[in-house]
Amino acid sequence: MIETKIKQIVRDVNDFPKPGIVFKDITPILKDAVLCNAIVAALADQLSEIKVDVVAGIESRGFLFGLSLANYLGVPFVPMRKAGKLPYKTVQHSYDLEYGSATLEIHEDAFLPGQNVLIHDDLLATGGTVIAASRLIEKLGAVVAGYSFIIALDFLNGRDRLLEFSPNNYALASY
Ligand code: AMP
Repeated sequence: MIETKIKQIVRDVNDFPKPGIVFKDITPILKDAVLCNAIVAALADQLSEIKVDVVAGIESRGFLFGLSLANYLGVPFVPMRKAGKLPYKTVQHSYDLEYGSATLEIHEDAFLPGQNVLIHDDLLATGGTVIAASRLIEKLGAVVAGYSFIIALDFLNGRDRLLEFSPNNYALASY
């Protein structure tokens, strides 16, 4: 089962990036090409019931599987980046993290109005990051089709906060 494999390989790093946080380090997954392919296929499998026109991946770990997932689905990929990284005209939104705060930016022509956008990131914690992503998508007149994560920290209740945008919330491994 893919959830068991992911849980076996993901490394817990205590007190990173600050005391009290248990950081889920997914870099060991990236060394296993067979597992990477299985993860992309499993992420795509979970989306069989919903219409996805675009995958939006969140900097930076959301890029690792987000582009592969978009390629696998045969749809465009859009990077959502931290402030100041994108070269063209942007729209932005600030948000709180489990640790600290940040601003997310997207090119103003990233989506066509009405497109169904799947938001992908490696991990769901409080949901602050993907809520910012959702607001940006809606600002550009597109629709949040759902959320796709490798890992969800369900004890932080991020899933509940996402219902405002979409009921479609998928993760391969939950804690
Ligand atoms: P949040 O906005 O609280 O849902 O945080 C999610 C974002 O922060 C994702 O981009 C994650 O990669 C990162 N993140 C938050 N908490 C953790 C954690 N415990 N382990 C690994 N990454 C985390």
